[in-house]
Amino acid sequence: MLTVTDLAAGYGPVRALDGVSFTAERGRVTAVLGANGAGKTTLLRTISGLHRAERGSVDLDGQRLDRVAAERMPALGLAHVPEGRGVITELTVEENLRLGALGRAGKVDGSDLERVYGLFPVLADRRAATAHVLSGGERQMLVVGRALMARPTTLLLDEPSLGLAPRIVAQIFELLRGLVESESLTVLLVEQNARSALSIAHRGVVLNLGRVVADDDADALAADDQLRHAYLGF
Ligand code: ATP
Repeated sequence: MLTVTDLAAGYGPVRALDGVSFTAERGRVTAVLGANGAGKTTLLRTISGLHRAERGSVDLDGQRLDRVAAERMPALGLAHVPEGRGVITELTVEENLRLGALGRAGKVDGSDLERVYGLFPVLADRRAATAHVLSGGERQMLVVGRALMARPTTLLLDEPSLGLAPRIVAQIFELLRGLVESESLTVLLVEQNARSALSIAHRGVVLNLGRVVADDDADALAADDQLRHAYLGF
């Protein structure tokens, strides 16, 4: 379980997060929603140690994460997939996957790769191809697969749906939900696409100007007309 308590962070005079508290449970997808500039990316970057918290704490299964350097996070079970599908296009699909195991304890063995290929068969078909031939959806699968190579307990995903066709988004979200339930992962899913995110999330946290304005079951958020119109854009 990931517990965020009274987290504050910013950029000079800009308050990007201002006292954010919530929990994300194991075996659950927790969506983090809100308009542009609400603080979603800053939240993920602060949890994973890329941005410094000014106040508050982050706790993962009983371990304090705030003040832990970003490069130690994989060993503690946390994987962060930033926005933008940063695959290394000159390397093959399999080489990209192997990079995901850097920094974790233990050697890569065939079972790690087979697990990812089992989840994303399209990557297995293209394991020897250079990543530049992959479509946007396949690249998104590759960055998620690469994160799983670290055997995380907790996955932070920033805008995985950006720029993808609705059919591909639905496919990736379905895979994600199955993965979370079968492996009991904790997933924090940042999305602008609130409607799609709530269709697969169990819980949702809505941010506005760096503060939590709603925190509830996904179904309850999706059924709240006022909240949807004010903050979720659908
Ligand atoms: P988006 O979907 O546009 O990425 P977001 O909800 O992820 O939005 P953040 O990117 O976390 O929001 O931004 C929160 C606030 O911090 C905004 O006011 C933004 O302008 C500001 N901000 C973000 N990054 C920086 C930066 N590097 N320097 C200064 N201000 C920043």
